[in-house]
Amino acid sequence: MEKKQSLDTICIQGGWQPKNGESRQLPIFQSTTWKYETTEAMADLFDLKASGYFYTRLQNPTNDVVAGKIAALEGGVAAMLTSSGQAANFYAIFNVCESGDHFVSAASIYGGTFNLFAVTMKKLGIEVTFVDQDASEEEIQKAFRPNTKALFGETIGNPVSSVLDIEKFAKIAHRNGVPLIIDNTFPTPINCRPFEWGADIVTHSTTKYMDGHGACVGGVIVDSGNFDWDAHADKFPGLTQPDPSYHGLAYSKAFGKGAFITKATAQLMRDFGSIQSPQHAFLLNLGLETLHLRMRRHCENALAVAKYLKTQEDVAWVNFSGLEDDKYYQLAQKQFDEGRPCGVVTFGIKGGRERSIKFMDNLKLAAIATHVADARTCVLHPASHTHRQLSDEQLRNAGIQPDLIRFSVGIEDAKDIIADLEQAFQAIK
Ligand SMILES: *Cc1c(COP(=O)(O)O)cnc(C)c1O
Repeated sequence: MEKKQSLDTICIQGGWQPKNGESRQLPIFQSTTWKYETTEAMADLFDLKASGYFYTRLQNPTNDVVAGKIAALEGGVAAMLTSSGQAANFYAIFNVCESGDHFVSAASIYGGTFNLFAVTMKKLGIEVTFVDQDASEEEIQKAFRPNTKALFGETIGNPVSSVLDIEKFAKIAHRNGVPLIIDNTFPTPINCRPFEWGADIVTHSTTKYMDGHGACVGGVIVDSGNFDWDAHADKFPGLTQPDPSYHGLAYSKAFGKGAFITKATAQLMRDFGSIQSPQHAFLLNLGLETLHLRMRRHCENALAVAKYLKTQEDVAWVNFSGLEDDKYYQLAQKQFDEGRPCGVVTFGIKGGRERSIKFMDNLKLAAIATHVADARTCVLHPASHTHRQLSDEQLRNAGIQPDLIRFSVGIEDAKDIIADLEQAFQAIK
């Protein structure tokens, strides 16, 4: 058996495998369409009888190579790139839920995902129940119904920096015969591979660390291939029963471990079309080539920043699971390689919302940006920005303190990042 390569090697060497005389770097297949010799050859592709390319909305070789690299990093069997992280999470849920169905989600998740689940999916007839991810198994179990089709959570909650106990969530999901879907955007597979803890499907906003340079919005869905759809055939007719739009083909039977991604591609990408452009996939691949180096530096810098913040009398609280006294430290030590979470540190300034804003406005190197998890240090005040429409009470219910500053530590020299914080503390004295 071929020895599994280390993640560092997959970042560089995974994906594109050029043959004799082919380009060393991944080619961009800048084409909407593919040419065939016979009508029948293309008809077989339309019937999913043969695999091959015919139209980029369904599949493109550049995208498939990059998806393959991410699947290898996560330890999955198949993956699909999407135009954004939002599209990835939408497709991941919609691939198993239809109108009349229900799913359960951790409440400590990205604001955009929260809105997608609570507001937009509801309009499609799909209901969600949010649970406190730190509650007991018994408590979380109460949210499940006969029509529940999935359990969802984020490895590290954006923006609160909570850490999800993936093993606990997997146990609950599997006891209920549903897959566990994990958004692994913040740790990336360099720090955590949710499949190793029992997750079935992983999603990412590749916009963040994977791209890493604030260049391209994108997403990905990865399947572990581990969930047995046929064992719960009545719950997942979309995967196990004949699909009339493909002459009665049943995905679980025709594609085995590839069923989830094949269905997501053949149905959801075909009909909704949120593809990633091959140009973006190329840039994403460049980002992936240094992901392992960047993640270590992000985490090292974030730990230095978190430790510095702890020494500041103006700081009310700090959330970073790499700190020994953090609520999630033990879990981070267990789930994350060398206990490294990610580069995002959240904290509050004494004096609440107003003083947090004043502090942020005095930062110089750290830019105020909606972005997060990027090479350049950036900062956001969720109560003023992403969660602006919520009252202080609603914010607290979502686990977001009104004074919460989301500080996304970049890969500059930590000394300069800390010097920037230092001068901002001086400025608000
Ligand atoms: C940003 C983000 C998303 C949404 O991704 P986009 O690429 O912005 O659509 C989803 N989940 C998490 C954890 C995120 O940080």
